[in-house]
Amino acid sequence: MDVSELIVCPDCDCLQRRVPLPLGGAARCSRCDALLYRSCRNGTQKTLAYTVTALFLFLIANSYPIAGIEVQGNRQAASLYDAVSLLWQEGHIEVAVLVGLTTLITPIIQIGLVLFLLVPLQFNHLVQGVAPVLRILETVRPWSMMEVFFLGVLVSLFKLEQLAHVEVGIALWAFAAMIPILIAVGMTFEPDEIWEKVRMLS
Ligand SMILES: [Zn+2]
Repeated sequence: MDVSELIVCPDCDCLQRRVPLPLGGAARCSRCDALLYRSCRNGTQKTLAYTVTALFLFLIANSYPIAGIEVQGNRQAASLYDAVSLLWQEGHIEVAVLVGLTTLITPIIQIGLVLFLLVPLQFNHLVQGVAPVLRILETVRPWSMMEVFFLGVLVSLFKLEQLAHVEVGIALWAFAAMIPILIAVGMTFEPDEIWEKVRMLS
């Protein structure tokens, strides 16, 4: 029997044989009903489109100010990077590391690795290191917590508004848009489909 026809249930480790699915169909574990794989033609294309969009939004979110504050005629605008470096300079090292990790480093690793896998496959080029890259993606995913950061910023801005004139920057909108886009990347991303393409190309 061809080993590539077999699939292990991610939840109960039950070994099963892969079956061809109708378009839009899903295969579930015969023992515990966990989702095994989906038939989603051009699923990787959708993931790629969402990831490229996320990359653009990430660049905007990091190139422009998140918010500007005006106190007694003095205007000051801060980008996300400014916020992280200010936290660091003020001695809030742990907070700076946490904010930097969850809002800057993890999303860009996630976006970068998905592009690293999908761009060559899109042009039918074989990619090396699929297994470690998928493993890293699985590890970093829980650390991408921009929605928590976004809520924190909104609450702070709302409070600041009572003390000073606050102007919401373009980066905050880019951030807001990036949250559902990254969720869409996660939902359409099918490691199984990537393996299928790699098998076809090798
Ligand atoms: Zn199962």
